[in-house]
Amino acid sequence: MSYPSFTSIRNDLRSGKTTVVELVEDYLRNIEEKKHLNAFTEVFRESALKKAAEVDGKLKSGTAGKLAGMVIGLKDNICYKGHKVSASSHILEGFESLYNSTATERLLQEDAVIIGRLNCDEFAMGSSNETSYYGKVLNPLNEKCVPGGSSGGSAAAVAAGLCTATLGSDTGGSIRQPASFTGTVGLKPTYGRVSRYGLLAYASSFDQIGPITHTVEDAALLLEVIAGADDFDSTVSHKPVPEYSAKLDFNGKARIAYIRECIESPGLNEEVRKGIEKQIAQLKAAGHTVEAVDFPYLDFLVPTYYVLTTAEASSNLARYDGVHYGYRSAKSNDVESTYRLSRTEGFGKEVKRRIMLGTFVLSAGYYDAYYTKGLKVRRIIREKTREILSSYDFILTPTTPDAAFEFGQKSADPVAMYLEDIFTVQANLAGVPAISLPLGKKSDGLPYGIQLMAGDFEEEKLLAFSRLLESARQSC
Ligand code: GLN
Repeated sequence: MSYPSFTSIRNDLRSGKTTVVELVEDYLRNIEEKKHLNAFTEVFRESALKKAAEVDGKLKSGTAGKLAGMVIGLKDNICYKGHKVSASSHILEGFESLYNSTATERLLQEDAVIIGRLNCDEFAMGSSNETSYYGKVLNPLNEKCVPGGSSGGSAAAVAAGLCTATLGSDTGGSIRQPASFTGTVGLKPTYGRVSRYGLLAYASSFDQIGPITHTVEDAALLLEVIAGADDFDSTVSHKPVPEYSAKLDFNGKARIAYIRECIESPGLNEEVRKGIEKQIAQLKAAGHTVEAVDFPYLDFLVPTYYVLTTAEASSNLARYDGVHYGYRSAKSNDVESTYRLSRTEGFGKEVKRRIMLGTFVLSAGYYDAYYTKGLKVRRIIREKTREILSSYDFILTPTTPDAAFEFGQKSADPVAMYLEDIFTVQANLAGVPAISLPLGKKSDGLPYGIQLMAGDFEEEKLLAFSRLLESARQSC
């Protein structure tokens, strides 16, 4: 059994061809069969089956919510009360969520079943899922390759049919890059569209929770459930949440900008470049306006992102001190050694690198040179992005410079790894929504994606246009 979308599940539930319990049992079998992918850090078998039985009852009595039959995996940094959560880090070993994240709470209220937590880069820091304490995740489309990161488990689980959809988090591309590497749809909402309450923080002014799905419609449905005002997160917007999934018809012609520097970038793979150019030509042929614009700050995106996110991470991760949460070194014998040893033993190499970088950029002597400067550059990037989006509906770029790479290819060179994020971090720096859609396959069979960004809170338009691209692709 492998369902291509939630709509097909709903049809089978309606016609009595399956039940939610059977569906969950099928997924549990798939998970067992594909255990070697290492997508899950834990499967919530019992609570998933229990919830499934409850939802079957509600379906019979006609009281089920709109996600009845949706079986979801959560990235291992999203809290689900009474279940473990670790950000795939040793330092949170054994820690159990004390409350539901707002996103989780809303999924459960609409009767989704949560089937497990998904492997990711430690504290969502990475682009390949190689930094997880629980080991790497294999890309189901080619097991020699990474699934992308940091939400690698979330993307692999959807691509391999281990659940209907997943939630990931995106600070600099962690939903969109793995979606691109696995042929799935990944949506990063506008900053402030979805509550971050119950998301283990990496860089709080960038982080957003979002869906990874097979289809645009499923992404729209999930977003409308999880989005919206929340008393527990003051950065969430009070703007009403449209019924995105009911508004997926894009009428009229779009005005699309593509960033010349991205398409001309020497780091862009030739086959990906050709795929994007072909898409641009098709859009023009369909009557949309597609024009090249200049974005002179491409080379500043990655450095600005890493200065600011490491600063925020060093502050956010100070709470893991061996006292409050999870792991404490057995060798500690006083306060200082508890902090020092627990953090030394509990964090992995990449997380330590970022804590040290972030501590450096925030230190008294360098604060203005790096952190304040980073904030100023962020503002320029944001203003330029908004300026483009004031005269165009969307900005189009490749999601990533290339398709999935092999394990080990970039892990020894942090800068090469950081450059993976060159096209995705712009949306996080600017705060705007962005989606990655499957675009094509390279000659070796690996998929690559196209990214669309839209103006603040324009998810409705973004999703409708994405559906148009999706259906055009399916019909050719
Ligand atoms: N690859 C980026 C990083 O390592 C993005 C991570 C993310 O979006 N969580 O920071």
